[in-house]
Amino acid sequence: MSDLAPAPVRCRFAPAPSGSLHVGNVRSALFSWLFARHQGGTFVLRLEDTDASRVTEEAVKGVLEDLRWLGIDWDEGPYRQSERLDIYREKADQLLADGSAYRCFCTKEELDARSKAARERGEAPGYDGHCRDLTEEQVEAYDAEGRSAVVRFRMPDREWLVEDIVKGEVRFAAGQLRDFVLMRSDGSPVFLLAVAVDDMLMGITHVVRGDDLLASAPRNAAVVEALGGTPPRYAHVPQVLGPDRQPLSKRHGSTSVESFREQGFLPEALVNYLALLGWSPGGDREILSRDELVSAFDLGRVSSNPAAFDTEKLTWMNTHYVQALDDDELAARCLHFLTEEGLMPDPASLRAAMPLVRERMKTLAEAPELLRFLFTDDVELTEKAQGLVAKAPDGYLGRVADVLDAVEPWDADSIQAVLDALADVEGLSRTKAFQPVRAAVTGSNVSPPLPQSLALLGKERTVARVRVVAAGAA
Ligand code: GLU
Ligand code: ZN
Repeated sequence: MSDLAPAPVRCRFAPAPSGSLHVGNVRSALFSWLFARHQGGTFVLRLEDTDASRVTEEAVKGVLEDLRWLGIDWDEGPYRQSERLDIYREKADQLLADGSAYRCFCTKEELDARSKAARERGEAPGYDGHCRDLTEEQVEAYDAEGRSAVVRFRMPDREWLVEDIVKGEVRFAAGQLRDFVLMRSDGSPVFLLAVAVDDMLMGITHVVRGDDLLASAPRNAAVVEALGGTPPRYAHVPQVLGPDRQPLSKRHGSTSVESFREQGFLPEALVNYLALLGWSPGGDREILSRDELVSAFDLGRVSSNPAAFDTEKLTWMNTHYVQALDDDELAARCLHFLTEEGLMPDPASLRAAMPLVRERMKTLAEAPELLRFLFTDDVELTEKAQGLVAKAPDGYLGRVADVLDAVEPWDADSIQAVLDALADVEGLSRTKAFQPVRAAVTGSNVSPPLPQSLALLGKERTVARVRVVAAGAA
């Protein structure tokens, strides 16, 4: 066990569910999970779903589906903060009772006006401690006025040091962190309270999350301390950037796990790729299985510099993982993409087609285009395919149909032999000889290797298609 973790490790992933996960968020989840697994610890899933106006069951389902698909499994949870509201209220009451928090009656207009005035005086805006030390009479007067109150945390007035595992020592000067709201006037918790309470009660030892939350760390820690707990250690992971070094967002293209799944990326590839985005096992190893990632992972080696998402690199990794799948597995994974396109392959033919397409596929989404000709007889020639047919010598496809009809046995070698022999007679290169046949049979100018494709398609279907196109071309 590393010195980062003397006690049993408990990590968590705490997304606010809003549908399919952003890959940047998943990368934080993955680092948290890899660390927990590496340490033989526990991984907790917690849904920060208190914002009822935003969280739908659909969004929750999206999060769970993404994690399952990626193989990021959890040992506890999913806990739901929406089911723990009484706990947050009780802790807020405890903090009020011992003076760690106070009721703040300031209205939004008052807060804004005072912040503006502070700015005009050249001071930092932010909460000015107005209600920190109200007398009992003042409180009674506000209550009598019918003002509503939030619960505000009394941030201890001292320097805070966060010893972040990724960022190193981060100092927050005394006075920089203002008193902040823990609970709204309607009794709903603000996430600064809920996160602190849950991390404490769930015994979280290491919080791995995006560095957009770095400034929350001293606040979270202060609340945990005020509640008598020991704050977790923090590891704030830099954001994932787009190619232009701006935070990765929709305008860069795909950002959600769902969109990568739909484009035919394998979860193995996405996990491998994301793990190496800001972390490296050392040396130049780039292809690492899930087990290898777990055994090599070291939170202390996560870079504090942001990394840019590189779709080409992900695609390269995906190609590797596609090629590594055996026929059965690859067929099973392609099936969904084929049925989406209305193709209904029978399992045996699909499996038999895998060796033909494995090396031609960058993503599973390319399977339908490559295999359509096998699983439907409804073949329409593309414009390019029509062009190739038109370029063939007069009557060529008719002669192809005749020689193919005589092939015995119907296998790739025999098919290749007769097509080559015919090409010799016709004075055509193999490319020129195969192109119109490919076009006629598959409807396309690209296909898996032709003799193998025809062998799989079967003699009857092949010859019939060539004859139909030959008749049209004559
Ligand atoms: N719920 C927060 C988010 O989705 C994360 C809170 C945390 O990790 O502490 O960004
Ligand atoms: Zn106030």
